[in-house]
Amino acid sequence: MDILRTPRVTLLARPQFLEPAHLPVQWQGESSDGERLAEFAGRLCYMSQHNPAGRTTADYLRNILTQGHGSVFEHSTYVVLIEGISRSCSHELVRHRAGWGYSQLSQRYVDESHAAFVMPPAIQGDPELESEWTRQVAAAQAAYVSAVERLMAKYEWVESKVHRRKMAREAARSVLPNATEVKIVASANVRAWRTMLELRLGEGAELEIRHMAVACLRLLQQEAPSLFADFDIYEAKDGSEASRVGFHKV
Ligand SMILES: Cc1cc2nc3c(=O)[nH]c(=O)nc-3n(C[C@H](O)[C@H](O)[C@H](O)COP(=O)(O)OP(=O)(O)OC[C@H]3O[C@@H](n4cnc5c(N)ncnc54)[C@H](O)[C@@H]3O)c2cc1C
Repeated sequence: MDILRTPRVTLLARPQFLEPAHLPVQWQGESSDGERLAEFAGRLCYMSQHNPAGRTTADYLRNILTQGHGSVFEHSTYVVLIEGISRSCSHELVRHRAGWGYSQLSQRYVDESHAAFVMPPAIQGDPELESEWTRQVAAAQAAYVSAVERLMAKYEWVESKVHRRKMAREAARSVLPNATEVKIVASANVRAWRTMLELRLGEGAELEIRHMAVACLRLLQQEAPSLFADFDIYEAKDGSEASRVGFHKV
């Protein structure tokens, strides 16, 4: 039985900015396509492509954050693959609706007999808690395997094997714990990313999703520093990382 302790976040897609030849911007400083796309959209509103203040992209986007003109961030979308998170964590993630798209592993179609399980951060490092948790999860997995076998026999009359498996797995999954690992593709524009990160990086957020959000933030800060630079990662009193946002919900 595989036990996972940390989320894995992989970038799947980033924006590609195609500058229109008839509206060139006087760019200043280094920037990524996602940042330039947001700057281009902002400058279009005032037709300020000639960059009268001589701002770098980083300065320009910081000014947008200061003014709370967050709609220009809706053009830049980043898509990630998140693995090593539990079903309860993904359930919290998918509550974020505006500007988000999701595709999650289906427990009706996929056999979970060899699923991995995600150990909650609070349990990690405590030998007694870890061993009790592992025992409970292994028992749940065994119950799932047994239920699938019995349900497959019960539904023997169903001609399509694919349909029969789906009928068995959709019922058997009810005994799987919240800790069962899921894989999910999540797409969001930068405004939506910022809202989710602000909520899930706070010290009041559940620990596992906080860890996931920190991993997402680090990746996004590398991809588009100017769009996420105001998030400050620090070690909270509980020993885990958290983050404060400089500009609240733009
Ligand atoms: C610490 C914490 C504890 C939580 N505890 C619980 C809990 O006990 N039970 C529970 O059910 N949930 C809980 N949640 C989830 C929470 O209620 C939200 O569902 C989740 O944080 C998504 O936030 P959101 O709706 O602002 O996000 P999004 O859906 O991404 O929306 C972003 C913003 O868009 C606007 N918006 C989106 N949809 C609408 C709409 N239909 N109408 C008007 N404006 C809209 C709002 O301004 C919203 O803030 C918790 C969240 C956190 C961070």
